[in-house]
Amino acid sequence: MNDDAVIDRLRVSELYRRTMSSGRARLADVLGGHLEVESSGAWITTSEGEKFLNAGGYGVFITGARHPAVVREVDRQLHTHPIGTRMFLDPAAARAGELLTSVTPPGLDKVHFSCSGAEAVEAAIKLARLNGRRHLVSMFGGYHGKTMGALSLTAKNVFQDPFRPLLPDVSHVPYGDVVALTAVLELHPGEACVIVEPVQGEAGVIIPPPGYLSAVRAVCSEYGALLVVDEVQTGLGRLGAWWGVEAEGVRPDILLSGKALGGGVIPVAATIATQEVFSVLDRDPILHTSTFSAAPIAMAAVCGAIRAIRDDGLVDRAAELGARLVPEFERIKAVHLPHHQCEVRGVGLLIGVEFADPSIAADLFLALVGNNVVANLSLNSDHVVRFTPPAVMTESDVEFLVDRFERAVKLVAERNPEYEVLANA
Ligand code: PLP
Repeated sequence: MNDDAVIDRLRVSELYRRTMSSGRARLADVLGGHLEVESSGAWITTSEGEKFLNAGGYGVFITGARHPAVVREVDRQLHTHPIGTRMFLDPAAARAGELLTSVTPPGLDKVHFSCSGAEAVEAAIKLARLNGRRHLVSMFGGYHGKTMGALSLTAKNVFQDPFRPLLPDVSHVPYGDVVALTAVLELHPGEACVIVEPVQGEAGVIIPPPGYLSAVRAVCSEYGALLVVDEVQTGLGRLGAWWGVEAEGVRPDILLSGKALGGGVIPVAATIATQEVFSVLDRDPILHTSTFSAAPIAMAAVCGAIRAIRDDGLVDRAAELGARLVPEFERIKAVHLPHHQCEVRGVGLLIGVEFADPSIAADLFLALVGNNVVANLSLNSDHVVRFTPPAVMTESDVEFLVDRFERAVKLVAERNPEYEVLANA
């Protein structure tokens, strides 16, 4: 490493410590203190020219980084009209609305755009209230963001406790448990709004039992509850389908999108509702607004992202790659960690490797970084290493990921031999 690169790293770290969160700088140090300065497809390049395969990014990069279709649209918008006055209509927003609703389940025709997943959740909470549903029900382990309303639904004490009181009238029930959900809905007929993920991402890739989502839909309909399906992480091809709800033919009243919606180029999210649920915002368009909602530059990114996913067949590619990676990871785990309590599971390109012991999960996460693969630990579970690689991975990218996963797992096995001893005792 040359001196300039070292000075660069120290300077950036020092500026983070001085002007932003010093804790954030400390965390980055644990991961090697790299500076990421460039990205393309499945790859991130550091200031020293080292390359990392991006199998993390919290689920943003289904189209990889800087997909040409997204860059083209955003570049054109950047050089014509990036931010609007909000006085006149904007053709980019109209195109984005049309394209997005062309890929959502039928009946979900009205879109409110925002800048983050949590904001999409806030809009859903407000739509629920506008429709007379004041009692919110979310699932333990569910992750919906950290703004105050969204946080009220993100049922995790470490995130909620410092900020109480949160929204009133919120219940949490176990994920996958329709009986518990029914018991809550019985107490709030015609007044509840249920929010659920098709697969819980931040909880550590928790896949519900078959039939769960359709049973949730049925019980919501029975008790007059609105159903919000949060596909901020699972939507737009991540699960090998455009939306997780498709697997059981469920139509929610509100569908949430984000992360991949900006094509890995611009932050943007969406709350997509039925005509009926959205109608109050038709009557009063200034009841829920924000300056950068549906900004032309973000709308261009939405158009680019949906075109890229559709035209490159990334939904099918995610299904195909997931169907290869999960068995490969299982094989590697069985060879090198036969005595560890460890489970590999996944749907499409949302893959989790869970360990009974969270220190082993942390060890694997670090060993992956040491082997030039970026993955994520899960925000609501430190037992699970989560992989959300792009669907644009080439064959050699896939081989690299499998090879480096194997090297990292071997390292973890060597560092933690006591499990073998226990198993052989
Ligand atoms: N909903 C789900 C399912 C998520 O996974 C996330 C973020 O991980 C959010 C909402 C919040 O999105 P954001 O971090 O963009 O606010």
